[in-house]
Amino acid sequence: MAKTAIPEEKIREAITFHGHWCPGLATGIRVAELALREVGRAGDEDIVAVAESDTCAVDAIQVLTGCTVGKGNLVLLGIGKMGFSFYRRRDGKAVRIVARPQKPGEGSDEYRRLQAKSNEGTLTLEEAERFETLRQERGRRILEADLDELFEIKKPLRPMPPHAPMKRSLTCEECGESVMETKARLSDGRVLCPDCFEREAPRP
Ligand SMILES: [Zn+2]
Ligand SMILES: [Zn+2]
Repeated sequence: MAKTAIPEEKIREAITFHGHWCPGLATGIRVAELALREVGRAGDEDIVAVAESDTCAVDAIQVLTGCTVGKGNLVLLGIGKMGFSFYRRRDGKAVRIVARPQKPGEGSDEYRRLQAKSNEGTLTLEEAERFETLRQERGRRILEADLDELFEIKKPLRPMPPHAPMKRSLTCEECGESVMETKARLSDGRVLCPDCFEREAPRP
């Protein structure tokens, strides 16, 4: 059985939330496990997470750590790296969990060949089935691996994101919809939402 300390029912919860089982979700489960060990679970926003990419892993992190996009204590950077920082506001403890890159030659040739075909969208039906089986196995191996085999723990590269209290809203003077004060723009003295601002003053 899996080596992960995350209980089976929590893993099932993450799969239900995410919609499928995949290596990315498995990675997220292990990131969450490490984060829980290092800084604990987010009660009411005491923990804030920064994910450097929007991958499948993020869904497991939301389910298991209590850091969510909706609450504002999960920030997505979109810089395409498998790095996840967790900060504890109460005492400032912080870690950056970074997935170790695959070593050249690691993983099977078959997986790499099927991955390449999958990226091109040229898998045959049988190949797609085989690839799915390999992905399921890979996910299970990630669950069973030692955490320090999978990740490095480093210091966060960025300061803790500021607390995100509810923002005041303003009404856009063009479309009449409300817009967060911090996102509103001014054009000729009129308060505009970003969409109307872009339309009025298209960038060159
Ligand atoms: Zn996935
Ligand atoms: Zn508007």
